[in-house]
Amino acid sequence: MPYALALKKMKRAVFPGSFDPITLGHVDIIDRAADLFDEIIIAIGLNHDKKYLFDLDQRVQFIKDTFADNPKIKVQTYKGLTINYCKEIGVDYILRGLRNPADFEFEKAIAQTNRNLSGIETVFLLTSANTAYISSSIVRDVYRHDGDISSLVPDAVARTSKE
Ligand code: ADP
Repeated sequence: MPYALALKKMKRAVFPGSFDPITLGHVDIIDRAADLFDEIIIAIGLNHDKKYLFDLDQRVQFIKDTFADNPKIKVQTYKGLTINYCKEIGVDYILRGLRNPADFEFEKAIAQTNRNLSGIETVFLLTSANTAYISSSIVRDVYRHDGDISSLVPDAVARTSKE
């Protein structure tokens, strides 16, 4: 590829997950990755075996509202293998966040498998210390029991009230 063209090739990453709901931990990773990539596609994987707290439309809307001011950040949904989805849309990188050694061990095997099967690289960012403890599952627990989730999630999520 000519040098000028190579310079122009957009660096795009897929950030896959359930985002049930998106938390300040996710936002931290996405905001920091936005300095490294030209476009980040937050990709909500559809898994029919999983029970979600927030339905798909809500999860998409939370993300759209949170990043409404950042044209680099997109949100999409996909079915099946993440690497197949990346190939379909021509993306070469998967973005993941790491909070702790358990995340590392889990993510390592997936990233190595994905690279082996497809050549797609996974780029890891370490969570910031102030969001390392946040997980969607803890947010769901607090929310279900009527606790205050506003310090754990972006405003778009914190605003939702239980009907
Ligand atoms: P999954 O369904 O794959 O567990 P999640 O929506 O929970 O998806 O998370 C998607 C990605 O965000 C994963 O890479 C996960 O490690 C990362 N992540 C989740 N919470 C945090 C956090 N507090 N700090 C940094 N990364 C996080």
